[in-house]
Amino acid sequence: MSSTLVESGELRALRTAVAALAARYGRDYFGTAVREGGHAEELWAEAGKLGYLGVNLPEEYGGGGGGITELALVLEELGAAGCPLLMLVVSPAICGTVIARFGTDAQKRAWLPGLASGGLRMAFGITEPDAGSNSHRLTTTARRDGSDWILTGRKVFISGVDTADATLVVGRTEDARTGRLKPCLFIVGRDAPGFTRRPIAMEVASPEKQFELVLDDVRLPADALVGDEDTGLLQLFAGLNPERIMTAAFAIGMARHALGRAVAYARTRQVWDEPIGAHQAIAHPLAQSHIETELARLMMYKAAHLYDAGDDAAAGEAANMAKYAAAEAAVQTVDRAVHTLGGNGLTTEYGLASLITAARVTRVAPVSREMILNYISHQTLGLPKSY
Ligand SMILES: Cc1cc2nc3c(=O)[nH]c(=O)nc-3n(C[C@H](O)[C@H](O)[C@H](O)COP(=O)(O)OP(=O)(O)OC[C@H]3O[C@@H](n4cnc5c(N)ncnc54)[C@H](O)[C@@H]3O)c2cc1C
Repeated sequence: MSSTLVESGELRALRTAVAALAARYGRDYFGTAVREGGHAEELWAEAGKLGYLGVNLPEEYGGGGGGITELALVLEELGAAGCPLLMLVVSPAICGTVIARFGTDAQKRAWLPGLASGGLRMAFGITEPDAGSNSHRLTTTARRDGSDWILTGRKVFISGVDTADATLVVGRTEDARTGRLKPCLFIVGRDAPGFTRRPIAMEVASPEKQFELVLDDVRLPADALVGDEDTGLLQLFAGLNPERIMTAAFAIGMARHALGRAVAYARTRQVWDEPIGAHQAIAHPLAQSHIETELARLMMYKAAHLYDAGDDAAAGEAANMAKYAAAEAAVQTVDRAVHTLGGNGLTTEYGLASLITAARVTRVAPVSREMILNYISHQTLGLPKSY
């Protein structure tokens, strides 16, 4: 049996298997990759070979035939071992889902087997410098030229573009250039003429880098458009809900990792007669973190189950709440973990301080804490809007 409360035997087995893989790599491997400018390629390749990167994708295209529930679990376990693969949020979760649900047969054949095995990667670009949290302001515009599309615009903070074979770019058509967002999604190959990237210097210790993208009259064939240009909002949310659920998984994994490290330290570090974990000022915040992380995980499961059951509307609220709860749990837990280690919490050797910025990312991306509070205020509680 599997519900939002009880994990099935199959999910538990997947969790155990991913945890075993992640334990062979761990935080030291990941930290070295970050320091040396690597991309954790070995872990990505092995996870792909074992079928973990594509657990959510259709079996007929080489995926595992599961859902976002399974993929979230994979990311959570990688994160709990200290080696989360951020591109899981983007490549199989957003891009794979959107192509599997709305792509043509040719797009599915071209992309899904590679996204499932990890042999191909796709980044996702929606954020723009002048639009930020307000997607209705997106100005990346596609105009028709014969059967081709010409795409022009700018994107910021797009993760992993350097290792991605293509980027799924959210734009709008020329007819829908102003007003409420009527998005359309285009697959832009990494070497498309007019498509350039510039790395953004970030204080986030992650193998995946962020990029500013310029699309300068990028010519795309008709089949670069994924799905229908008139129902783009539905298609976009089909990808954004998994993104929120996966960010929750990323945050929960990070919280579990930080908490585990803090608990291990608090059990053995002794400066008076008892280990510091015996002091309630140390123990209670860690217990709070455990509770908050478990609660966030329950909401993540609820969101994933709703999404996998095809209830996009209900999944939206749950996915937002899961992302909110998980990010808050991660920020609090990392802070408490660093504090538990005293001075060691800030050393490079113990590697916890770098999680401070990583945890903050989950509070702002892919949708900020405030925009989720706005969503719940307006959509759920029916309160009036100030903007
Ligand atoms: C590490 C990292 C990786 C990322 N990867 C990607 C990626 O792969 N693809 C992609 O498309 N994007 C990516 N992003 C971008 C991310 O989704 C955005 O940073 C995020 O959506 C916020 O947009 P912004 O930075 O423009 O902030 P802004 O929209 O400028 O907001 C700034 C602050 O104002 C607050 N605010 C704004 N409007 C309101 C309001 N109406 N009410 C209350 N408060 C408000 C926000 O909550 C926030 O705290 C990434 C960002 C980071 C940091």
